[in-house]
Amino acid sequence: MILVYPGSFDPVTNGHLDIIERAACICDKLIVAVGNNESKRPAFTVEERVEMIRESIGERENIEVTSFTGLLADFAKKVGARAVIKGLRAMSDFEYEFQMALLNKKLEPELETLFMMTSVQYSFLSSSAVKEIARNGGCIDGLVPDCIKDRIEGKLTCR
Ligand code: ADP
Repeated sequence: MILVYPGSFDPVTNGHLDIIERAACICDKLIVAVGNNESKRPAFTVEERVEMIRESIGERENIEVTSFTGLLADFAKKVGARAVIKGLRAMSDFEYEFQMALLNKKLEPELETLFMMTSVQYSFLSSSAVKEIARNGGCIDGLVPDCIKDRIEGKLTCR
């Protein structure tokens, strides 16, 4: 079974990686799909976001990292995915994700949306928090993989 894990990943955090690792264990192939949505005004280009995820996970037999434009439902169908997997941190994620899941079901009835609970140590972690901390010169150790820390700080920290 192919699963798609979509998101902005602007940038990828240890919370995302936890979901990636756990999701990869329950499917044959996991496609991590970086949304190319300029209206969200991302801090990193889509190429940078894909590269940072690839660097963080290394070569993995059943994980593919790519980007997509347009509707997630269309992308999922194109790659032959049975379901989309989303992470849930708190009740506050639920309402938005519930709406998206129902919309995608309407667009593509055969496509399921699965939810995976965050691991408790990452329940407070978001890409926007990481950016806010880095922009203000705070320490992002433990929030993002070590191998991409310098890149994030280099791009966001005001000197
Ligand atoms: P954000 O900018 O909120 O961090 P993304 O759009 O990059 O989010 O998130 C992609 C997916 O990863 C979403 O399903 C989101 O709920 C999930 N996610 C983000 N951070 C975490 C976390 N710390 N734990 C579990 N899931 C997460």
